[in-house]
This record gives sequence, C-alpha cells and structure tokens, in this order.
Amino acid sequence: MTEIPENIRSKRIVREQYFFRGNAACPGCPIPKELDLMLEIMGKKTVLVVPASCSTVIMGDIHGSPSTVPVIHSAFAAAPAIASGVSRQIKLKGEDAKVVVWAGDGATGDIGFAGLSGAAERNEDMIYICYDNEAFMNTGIQRSSLTPYGAWTTTTPAGKREFKKPLPFIMMQHKIPYVATASIAYPFDYQGKVRKAKEIQGFRYLHLLSPCPPGWRFDSSLTIEIARLAVETGIWPLFEVLNGKFSLTGISKTLLEKRKPIEEYLKLQGRFSKLDKKEIEIMQEAVDSMWEDIRKMTN
Ligand code: SF4
Repeated sequence: MTEIPENIRSKRIVREQYFFRGNAACPGCPIPKELDLMLEIMGKKTVLVVPASCSTVIMGDIHGSPSTVPVIHSAFAAAPAIASGVSRQIKLKGEDAKVVVWAGDGATGDIGFAGLSGAAERNEDMIYICYDNEAFMNTGIQRSSLTPYGAWTTTTPAGKREFKKPLPFIMMQHKIPYVATASIAYPFDYQGKVRKAKEIQGFRYLHLLSPCPPGWRFDSSLTIEIARLAVETGIWPLFEVLNGKFSLTGISKTLLEKRKPIEEYLKLQGRFSKLDKKEIEIMQEAVDSMWEDIRKMTN
C-alpha cells in the first residue's frame, strides 16, 4: 500500500491508498477511487472477488496496478459462487477476513444474476458491490439490462427501448440483511454504508452508480458532477434497507417532494443526445413513478 506523507494526510480524505497511481483506468474513471474508499473501510483483511470487467483490467492486466489486498479474478458468472466458497473456508479456518465481490452491472444483472440471487437466497456471508456503469464497457460499450432507457450503446445505436432493471429493489425482495445504493459524489454516505455492511453478518448488497466517460460520452472532468446530478434529479436515489426497513439517506432525504428535472443530468451525456422531448418526458415520468413507490416505502 502506498503511504501518503503525514503532512498531507487529512482525517477527511482517504489516508491510505490501496491502488497505485497511474493505473490502467480511463481518465475520469471513478473505479480506482471507489475501490480505495471501500478498502479504506474494509481494511487489509479483505479478499476481493472480481468477475471479468473494467476492474479486471485496472487490477489485472500486464499494465494494470495490482491491488494490495488478495484478488480472485473470476469468470463472469462465477463470482458469487467463488465468494461463497472463500467465505465458508475463512470461517472454517477461524479467520476474520471479509469477502467482497466487486462486479460491474453486466456480471451482476445479466451473466451472473443467477449466482447472485442464489448466494443472496442462501444468505452467504459476503458483501456484494455492483459498480454500475450501465453497459458492458470493457468489451466495447454493449447494452446491459442495467443500461437506462434511451441510452446509446454500440448495440442500441438508436437508444435502448427497455427500462433499466431495478436491481437494488430486486435485491430487497431477497430479504437479505442489508441493501444500499451509493454514489461517488457522496463519499461519506458511501463509506458509511460500507462501514455498516462490514459490521453485519450475511449477504449485504451495495449498488454504486459509476459514471463512465467514454461509455456515457462526457468529458472526463465531469464524473463527479454527473454522479451528483444523478442523485439530485432523483434518477439515482440514495437509500438503505436494514433488516427490511427502508430509509432514504443523505441529500435524497430532501428529494421526496422536489427534484431537479432529469434533463439536467441527461444533457451532459452524449449517449442521450438523440433523445427527443417525448422520450425525455417518458424518462421523467418513470423517475417520478419510482419516487411515488419510494414514498410508500418510507411511510
Ligand atoms: S471504460 Fe468506463 S468504466 Fe471502464 S475503465 Fe474506462 S471509464 Fe472506467
């Protein structure tokens, strides 16, 4: 692990770095920082299981920057099963390491969904984090089931016709101990949820929206701005579900009545540049409808 000199340490920023500078991520990619923030809370006694994804390249290719915690790179669909086995072995040996699956949206919502659902149903003792960049970015920006309605990808050149799979809500239905959403624009909210998940036994699921500059077609300086607008427009609500109790967190607690129009989020991203007024209205209606459902869950 790279030590940051004492004189530039701050209690408010990451004090230890688990990934070296100059890694293989694209400029503006939030994944290295998302991993650092997560591992700062989880600590060195963490085993990462990483199915095929951009993170595999960031950590594992010849130009990649290996993690400073053990990493098992897995086939797309195998991560939840591998993590289940590792977690059980750790327990059998009486050790106290934690197992974290770090997976993209394709591995989570599509190719690996059966394994994810099975591990959740068995309440395996692991933290599963989906960093959701809303397409198969590593293999060339193909749509996933978590790509939003209207988004351009190489396999939806005219814009996707289906809505994003509501995976955090689907995971809620598994009645696992903890489900939460997070955004890199709100790092203390994110780290607070990782901290909470670390303290709980059983299957914990975190879903982290992870803007991707080349895949979403925005300037790499705008990553945090876009992550923040996703929350402020309500398209990405921050919430947690602890033992079945749903609560909005952070700024999302103030957004039940009024949110920014989603156009503010969409207009910064080239992947939505061809949307017409009607399609933007359809998306706004879908967001408003989700918030009506959220209102019922918060009552
Ligand atoms: S393609 Fe997107 S998610 Fe993958 S490394 Fe580049 S910015 Fe990150």
